Amino acid sequence: MDCGQQYPVDKIIYACEKCGGLLDVQHDTDYLKKTATHTLFDSRLGTLEAPYNSGVWRYKEMIYPDVSNDLVVSRPEGNTNLYRTPKLAAWAGVETLYLKHEGENPTGSFKDRGMTGGVTQARVLGIDRVACASTGNTSASLAAYAAWAGIEGIVFFQNKQIAAGKLAQAIAYGATGVQVNADFDRNLELVREVAEGLGIYVLNSINPFRLEGQKSIIIEAIQQLRWKVPDWIVVPGGNLGNSSAFGKGLHELYSLGLIDRIPRIAIIQAEGANPLYRSYQNGLKSFEPVHAETVATAIKIGNPVNYKKAIRTLKWTDGVVEEVSDQEIMDAKALIDRQGLGCEPASACSLVGLRKLVSKGIIKSHETVVGILTGHVLKDPEAVMHYHSHEMDGIEPHYANTLHQSDANIDSLREILGKKELTPA
Ligand SMILES: *Cc1c(COP(=O)(O)O)cnc(C)c1O
Ligand SMILES: [Zn+2]
Repeated sequence: MDCGQQYPVDKIIYACEKCGGLLDVQHDTDYLKKTATHTLFDSRLGTLEAPYNSGVWRYKEMIYPDVSNDLVVSRPEGNTNLYRTPKLAAWAGVETLYLKHEGENPTGSFKDRGMTGGVTQARVLGIDRVACASTGNTSASLAAYAAWAGIEGIVFFQNKQIAAGKLAQAIAYGATGVQVNADFDRNLELVREVAEGLGIYVLNSINPFRLEGQKSIIIEAIQQLRWKVPDWIVVPGGNLGNSSAFGKGLHELYSLGLIDRIPRIAIIQAEGANPLYRSYQNGLKSFEPVHAETVATAIKIGNPVNYKKAIRTLKWTDGVVEEVSDQEIMDAKALIDRQGLGCEPASACSLVGLRKLVSKGIIKSHETVVGILTGHVLKDPEAVMHYHSHEMDGIEPHYANTLHQSDANIDSLREILGKKELTPA
């Protein structure tokens, strides 16, 4: 993406050999103008035919047009719901808020949309070992897709603060799991180094084929809105894969005439893991990694590999960056959970980040907003239990739902249930 050097699609390569920069999948716009149409994509809605029954491969022309269908590894992912949420809209201060629930993917996070692209590419390359370093969800997804494809999945975990649901998934799906005494950022360096000599294909989000799959989140959301673009898309930012993919996807949709304007993107980071926010504050002039600390473990990343692509997204979409505290994240999560939707902590950045941007007058109350919920509530059950039982360090649970204890008799139950103490939602 920096120097314009091109490489064939079947070359095993993670960075530009000339300048060391990030790689982008470059599509043939002339070909796409003829093939990628609303009519084609709409005609595949509800189809039973693989791989077009996937919410990624429905847009195959825009994702990976010339891959043979029988190489595609799909569960099938995507097809996640876009929920109109009036109560949460009112809380955030806008009239129209849709939440796209990426926790409804096969392994419970949007990572599946990238992984179908990445593991498919491993098969194109004929490689039968794939690996990643992860804060959790990428590992869960890689483990599942590798198993589904019948190849070996290898996952590097940090040795602490891994959400229980994610670790459990990686082990259950049969990945080779390694706990490394290092944080995510160091793990990512290690996995790249060790993979080289061992014939392992690295599927972290430096892998451009993953980002192609993740573009489909935004294409699908806009199709669900009958191809009418929202004013804003709000997304949590950790390693900035989604932020990068969304910018590229929107840019392509616009170039192909599939949308008539580009929505603005708001990237929300946790205060304790906010390198992009800091860069944004200084006019994107410099970018410094930080030491990351946050309850939202999925975005606990201090040195996001994709930051240059995220900055490109900000330029392409007239985007903004906001930060939110762990307290704000956990309270917003409790509100989302209480709607019956549920999400993991990182996802709640979308809602509370939106509220903050509305309060600053950057997002206007009449503007239509799509927020992305990135992961499923069951990914991090401990965060739920600790919050609601007042056991989370430094967090005051403003929306705690306390579990009642009763003796095994009617009087005791009447005492509890007679009060009808409805908590505000
Ligand atoms: C990976 C992940 C994120 C961060 O997404 P990036 O694309 O790395 O910015 C946020 N939420 C959840 C649940 C995730 O799994
Ligand atoms: Zn280059």
